[in-house]
Amino acid sequence: MLSRNLEEIILRIEKARIAYSRHQIVKIVAISKYQSVDSIQGLYALGQRAFGENKVQDLKSKSEALEQLPLEWHYVGTLQSNKINALLSLKPFMIQSVHSVEIARELEKRLQRNQQTLKALVQVNSAREESKSGFMPEELLERYAEIEETCPHLRLCGLMSIGAHSDDYALIQKSFETTKNLFDRLKHAEILSMGMSGDFELAIACGGNMVRVGSLLFRKGSFL
Ligand SMILES: *Cc1c(COP(=O)(O)O)cnc(C)c1O
Repeated sequence: MLSRNLEEIILRIEKARIAYSRHQIVKIVAISKYQSVDSIQGLYALGQRAFGENKVQDLKSKSEALEQLPLEWHYVGTLQSNKINALLSLKPFMIQSVHSVEIARELEKRLQRNQQTLKALVQVNSAREESKSGFMPEELLERYAEIEETCPHLRLCGLMSIGAHSDDYALIQKSFETTKNLFDRLKHAEILSMGMSGDFELAIACGGNMVRVGSLLFRKGSFL
């Protein structure tokens, strides 16, 4: 089932990617929250290397259980300051969800002390939803520059955003376009992480180059 899910997703990504630009490369981060170590291992066997978790505790238990595999772990949850040490001790590949200047500074302090660096994306709340973390679009550029300047151990690589929570295609598209416009105004930014199971093709059509796919990838049974 995993191989069929992955194959279908790769085909759909390829189509969307080529329609956008032949030169666009899109990376899949498999969001493995709610999934077992066995499922992650199954996807690894199919070639998947990047996985994402939204809870530090789950990242810890899964990355430790699978530490013999060369996996790339992405933290995508809203980080609380009392979990920073635990997160950094796991040496994740990247944190995608820097959502405030305060958390960035606290990360910086610990990274500096540990003589460690960490790749990071800054989260934008492009749909302006109260339930979501991240910077409002109008403050993003200024805050991004501030974090870049004051937190050198955080290696900023771009932006992460969650599309509008809506059935209205136009609304989701608008939130992705907002994120893309901000991304285009950043210097040196390479990663635009947007798109999940329900909207990754739209995210790619709007210029996203990293998709975070969970439920569609791990779903059981066939809907074909
Ligand atoms: C859960 C989650 C995803 C994946 O969502 P699906 O709809 O299951 O693909 C992507 N990004 C973040 C930040 C998440 O928390």
